[in-house]
Amino acid sequence: MSYISENLKHIEEKIANAALISGRKRDDIKLIAVTKTHGSDIINEAISCGVTDIGENRPQEIIEKYDDVLPVTWHMIGHLQTNKVKYVVGKTSLIHSVDSLKLMDEIERHAKKRGIVQNVLIEVNISGEQSKLGIRPDEIDALLEHAGRLQNVMVQGLMTVAPKTDNSMTNRLHFNNIHRIFIDIQNKTYDNVNMKYLSMGMSGDYETAIEAGANMVRVGSAIFGTRKYQ
Ligand SMILES: *Cc1c(COP(=O)(O)O)cnc(C)c1O
Repeated sequence: MSYISENLKHIEEKIANAALISGRKRDDIKLIAVTKTHGSDIINEAISCGVTDIGENRPQEIIEKYDDVLPVTWHMIGHLQTNKVKYVVGKTSLIHSVDSLKLMDEIERHAKKRGIVQNVLIEVNISGEQSKLGIRPDEIDALLEHAGRLQNVMVQGLMTVAPKTDNSMTNRLHFNNIHRIFIDIQNKTYDNVNMKYLSMGMSGDYETAIEAGANMVRVGSAIFGTRKYQ
């Protein structure tokens, strides 16, 4: 058995267990294998081991790998500049990193041109750390209101990147906070907003994130090993 299939098996068990703890089923949680820096051969091996969703954080990497990767659902999880929107709209089923009206408008423009509806998540900076991308919780409402004025963008949830820590418990508080916000929004009505995904949790803390209500986790190094950046 390859290290990838072994790692995936291990992660599957942990996801199922964390789902159970939070009163859900394994199938309620989507695992996104984060494939940044990895070539299409490695990615295809993961797909043949059962991976259905992959996440990339640079448009350039999506373009480079797109034609060589087996059929799979692509997610754009990294910071997106407005001048790169044209490379990801239509190729990715979900853009996790919408953090401004300007970016939302640019996605609308390209989605309209292609005659599609682009699904997106709003990226929230839940820890308040300066280095983190995403908007403040008090800015979410304005983006959701704005989505209602568009035709080719659908907001499907929230995403956050928790601080890097050796102890996943310290992120539990952040995860609980964004989960509360997520539930609050679910109880309101906005046009073009269907709050169904909460994308949080990475290799170091995905179990904690699921226990706190995540239903999408983005896991890279726990599947593929440590990344080597050129
Ligand atoms: C790289 C990345 C991940 C995965 O990180 P790992 O710690 O390797 O699991 C998840 N989310 C985002 C936004 C990333 O850029």
